[in-house]
Amino acid sequence: MISFRCWFCNRVYTKPDEQAGTRFECGCGRRAKVPKRSSGSSKTRSLTDWLLESLIYGGAGALIGFGLSVAILSRLFIFRRPADIIVAVTLFGFAVGTLFGERGINWIGQKLRDRENG
Ligand SMILES: [Zn+2]
Repeated sequence: MISFRCWFCNRVYTKPDEQAGTRFECGCGRRAKVPKRSSGSSKTRSLTDWLLESLIYGGAGALIGFGLSVAILSRLFIFRRPADIIVAVTLFGFAVGTLFGERGINWIGQKLRDRENG
């Protein structure tokens, strides 16, 4: 048996193992997923959630990328066309945020902090 909580309302559920990965409607009205093991996440992502997350993380990535490009440029003045670097790194940040979500954002953030500390 798999014991878990509804990701949305925290209601406790116990489901048979063979229902792992299946979706059901919780009493709170949200669609939840039976996790593969006890205490796993029952969060489901709809296409809208996915799009929103891409947008949020993509936007965050773009912002961080922009910050990173400015940080790079503040140290290196050898680029003839700094605008290209800003656009390129901002787009890079957007791509990383969109493709890798939170992990990507954390990764870029880490690079940024490394740069500031080093
Ligand atoms: Zn619920």
